[in-house]
Amino acid sequence: MSDAPTRVSCDIDFDKDGRQASFLAVANSVNESAYGTVTIPIYQFKNGDGPTIFLSGGVHGDEYEGQVVLRKLAQSLDVAKVRGRVIVLPSMNLPAALAGKRLSPIDNLNLNRIFPGKADGSITETIAHYVSHVLLPLTDIQVDLHSGGTTLDYIPCIIMNEQPGDKERERKTHEALMAFGTPIALISKALDATGLFEVECDVRGILNLNAELGGAGMVRKHIVEIAETGIRNLLIHFGIMEGEIARPETMGREPSRLMKIADFDSFAMVPDDGLYEPFIELGDTVDAGQAIGQVHYLHHTDKEPWVVHTKAAGTLINKRPPGKVSRGDNVAIFAVDTTYPPD
Ligand SMILES: [Zn+2]
Repeated sequence: MSDAPTRVSCDIDFDKDGRQASFLAVANSVNESAYGTVTIPIYQFKNGDGPTIFLSGGVHGDEYEGQVVLRKLAQSLDVAKVRGRVIVLPSMNLPAALAGKRLSPIDNLNLNRIFPGKADGSITETIAHYVSHVLLPLTDIQVDLHSGGTTLDYIPCIIMNEQPGDKERERKTHEALMAFGTPIALISKALDATGLFEVECDVRGILNLNAELGGAGMVRKHIVEIAETGIRNLLIHFGIMEGEIARPETMGREPSRLMKIADFDSFAMVPDDGLYEPFIELGDTVDAGQAIGQVHYLHHTDKEPWVVHTKAAGTLINKRPPGKVSRGDNVAIFAVDTTYPPD
């Protein structure tokens, strides 16, 4: 089952049919609890032969929508209606989720920058190692639900990485991408790839998708509906459940708009500290060189605000909700329409 020793203990029998709900237990010896343990909820649903889909959320603790959707799924899924196996880890970085923070308060690490983790590392590294070396070897399809957290807000997107080394897996991933059904479906290059969970899946040849569901520190009704429908669609698409692929009513039952983030010019950063005033809203389309907002200076009486311009044209798919900004903060991400396969 495992391809490396782990310090995580878990009493789930991954070969056994039926529903199992348990915990990943990681020792956490601290001032308040000498023999303390971090216990991360995990569920398995298995019914005979079929593919294994591994659904995860809460890799970043302040991204709430995926955690809500996967808990609801894990508490309602009827194992008798499953063909194959569904593994659900709703809050992979539980310490961060308990703190409502992006990073773990225990070791201040970003779980999505340290894959494949370390067997003898800190708590977050140990979680990544277990996921990489115990759960991924069981997995045919991985879906990781993110959102913008407290500092970003996305138009709900389902995302795949280009797979230049495996065009057949890329084609199948694109089919799954379009089956999910979010307002935008993104094809990405994994621009900052170091330590990403999805890159560990790519390295292992596992078909994978990730989502950016919304954010702004919120859980919105229509985004929960989009995510719940999308996960159900994937289970149907891969033959794990029976049913019809559906589109959420809030999407007007339209297919996803296929887009890509071209390069780093698609990201707008602020040049200085202050208060950011956006000129555009999610979904707006801009030209290259267009003014999209300005930074007001807190320390000065008559200093003109610094106007932020785009480097490239595109549609705003992500913006920063907090008004207070520091130099280098990302305030906008733009995407452009694309086709698959590319023209
Ligand atoms: Zn995230």
